[in-house]
Parts: sequence; structure tokens; C-alpha cells
Amino acid sequence: MLQVGNLEAGNRHDLRVVISPDAPDENELKGDQDGAFGYAHSYETASRVDGPGLRVVLFVSGCLLRCSYCHNPDTWHLKDGTYISAQQVLDRLGAFASALRDLNGGLTISGGEPLVQLEFTRRILAGAKEMGLHTAIETSGYLGNRVDEKYLSVLDLVLLDIKSSNPKTYRNVTSRELAPTLGFAERLAALGKPVRVRFTLVPGLTDDAENVAGIARFVAPMANVEWVEVQPFHQLGAFKWKAMHLDYKNNQTPTPTPDLIDRVIGQFRAAGCRVR
Ligand code: SF4
Repeated sequence: MLQVGNLEAGNRHDLRVVISPDAPDENELKGDQDGAFGYAHSYETASRVDGPGLRVVLFVSGCLLRCSYCHNPDTWHLKDGTYISAQQVLDRLGAFASALRDLNGGLTISGGEPLVQLEFTRRILAGAKEMGLHTAIETSGYLGNRVDEKYLSVLDLVLLDIKSSNPKTYRNVTSRELAPTLGFAERLAALGKPVRVRFTLVPGLTDDAENVAGIARFVAPMANVEWVEVQPFHQLGAFKWKAMHLDYKNNQTPTPTPDLIDRVIGQFRAAGCRVR
């Protein structure tokens, strides 16, 4: 029997590895039973950048992508997370609920990838809704076809990471296919579910003008997309790759210059997207 741990408060830049060595392989996690228990990396209590208002952000473990610029490789595997109960998360969240409501905020589940542990994250979102909180997930959309009506009914906002518009670049960056992400975006658009698109700007990897233009053309007609967030690449996660003995290919990659950021924002605006 797996031992239930105690999730420490912290933040996305903490390195946490092999906390639950007996965890299943996330590649084989097709359903996660009733979602009463799951694996989480950490949580933050005062984010202002992961949805409206003040947010608690829960970072869950497990991701099927392998983004070459990922700043949280210690969220890729369930075994690196702490095994906890959804109720434990909700009890912790309950302590902040009143302040979150007062500040028009709520809960955002990020990762890792929240859709790997579908039932676990759904339970937590449902519990947050019962507290009267706004709910959001940050997702690559790769597992978007796992999301059903029941899941959508407890979800107010999707922070959707679109890493490239070019299938070849997407595969190069993430090791997975682009089509599921675009399909999920189209489904959310058809449903009118609020979305904020996130695009990570990585010099030499995702900054190609045609790559940016392709995302802008895709997103511009979607009335459910509140805006596009251009997120400049940074090196804050590089130390994790080193500590985990992973092959980090972005040692020499610079952060984007102000001129490059302006060009990319200008491309989104020119296509008719709102940008923040
Ligand atoms: S989807 Fe997110 S957590 Fe997964 S590898 Fe990419 S950047 Fe990392």
C-alpha cells in the first residue's frame, strides 16, 4: 500500500525528485480510478499570473511531453511527486478560500500535466467549485480528448500552451504530436469555454516568424480566447536538468531580447489577437 505523504508548500522552482518511488508509470495511467489520491509536486499560495485574481496554484506530477526548455522536469514522473489525497488538497485550499473569493481569484492546477491524473484533478476542481472558487488548469492540450462534460462542468478557464503551429517544430520541441492540442483548442472554441493561450518564446526554437504567424492565424478567429500570453524563455529551470543528470540542450539559449518580444507581440496583434 502506498504511503500518503504530506505536501509541503513551496513553489515551482523547488527541485523535488523520487519522493514516491513506487508510483505507477504516467505513460500507463489511462484512468486513475476514482481520483481520491494522486501525486503532486508543490503548491503556491499567492500567484497573480495564472488566472484571474489571486490564485492558489497546485503543481501536479506526470507529463507525457518532454519540452526541451521545460523548467520543471521534476514534474515529468509521478514518482517524483508526493502521494496525497484530494481531500488533503481541499482541506489546505479551504484555509485560503475566503481570501481567494475576496480577491476574485481561485485555484489553478498546473504541472506537469493536469490531464494525466484526470480524476484526481477533476475531484479537486469540483471541490474548489463547491467553495465558490474560480477554477483553471494549465495544459498542453495533448490529452484533451480525455476531457469530458463532467470535467468541463467544474472548469472555468483553460490556460492552453500552444508551443508551435508547425507539426515538425512541435515534435522537435515536445517529442509529441501537435494535432491533439489544436483539436482540443477547436473543441473549446466550439463550446465557448474561456481560454488564455500561452506561447513560450524560445530564441532559435519557437521564434521563427512563420511559426508565430501560424499560431496567430489559428487563434485569432476564436472568440473564446481572452488573450495570448507571450512567455519569454528563461534559464530558471536549468539547474534541475543538471541535478537530474538530464541532457539540457538550451545552455547557450539566450532570453529573448525586447525587440524580439515586441516583434512577436506585434505579429499576434496584427493577426487580430489580444495580447498580454
Ligand atoms: S508540457 Fe510543461 S511540464 Fe510537460 S514537458 Fe512541456 S513544459 Fe514541461
